[in-house]
Amino acid sequence: MDVFQLKNKNIVVMGVANERSIAWGIAKKLLEVGANVIFTYRKERSKGKIEKVLAAYTDHNTDVIECDVNSDESIAKAFNEIGGKYGVIHGIVHSVAFAHAEDLHSRFVETSRDGYAFAQDTSAYSLVAVANAARPFMTEGGSIVTMSYLGAERVLDGYNVMGVAKAALEASTRYLAHDLGVEGIRVNAISAGAIRTLAAKGVPSFNTILHQIEEKSPLKRNVTSEEVANMTVVMLSQLSSGVTGETIYVDSGYNIMG
Ligand code: NAD
Repeated sequence: MDVFQLKNKNIVVMGVANERSIAWGIAKKLLEVGANVIFTYRKERSKGKIEKVLAAYTDHNTDVIECDVNSDESIAKAFNEIGGKYGVIHGIVHSVAFAHAEDLHSRFVETSRDGYAFAQDTSAYSLVAVANAARPFMTEGGSIVTMSYLGAERVLDGYNVMGVAKAALEASTRYLAHDLGVEGIRVNAISAGAIRTLAAKGVPSFNTILHQIEEKSPLKRNVTSEEVANMTVVMLSQLSSGVTGETIYVDSGYNIMG
């Protein structure tokens, strides 16, 4: 039985930089359940890496399209191309974030105006811009899933300006869910546990965070990229049809601890 009902559905996956990316884990699962996966990338280097891993998936329906979320023009171009080619978009995975390294390495109180705005623009506003650009093509309803982190609500050493951006991302998820519910579009965030990726390298306290999760979380271990991917696929699928505006934790239960 096809419990996910994602076969031949058109899902846009934003944020694969390499095989370690959370978005790649999600894309793999989507390909397994028969979805058509449209990848978007910012850097040519990422495009090359995506095409390389897709060489093993030639019997699947995939696409690779440029989209820099800091640019309205680039977002409009990408989604018009995707909408024009596929007609309908059924789902979006927004797995994109970035902050300047200096804002993660200095004290939060020293965050520059530019650094603050840049982290917000790339990591939170981009979800709003993408939802608005995709909306005209989500004519059958659908599901948008973004990636957040516990630093949105708790102070985690070294997460700084990114924590504030994730707080805005989670609030944007709720406001978008409210706006788009009437169009049958659900919007949810996954708050993922720590996973060793390119983006994680930028967080100076990352190794300490991994260690703390092993020690304190109910499951006494870190989560895998595959576990985050499984929940994301559920959130994209009909299995979660009654859920919107939520932040769902895939973090070994770490967030419940005092
Ligand atoms: P990653 O570095 O593999 O992915 C981040 C992606 O963001 C990259 O593909 C990068 O190209 C893309 N990106 C950055 N700026 C962009 C722009 N202007 N336009 C388009 N794309 C842009 O790292 P990841 O850990 O897979 O991160 C994916 C998401 O998961 C991020 O939102 C991150 O904050 C979140 N997250 C990560 C962890 C973790 O521990 N790795 C935990 C919780 C949440």
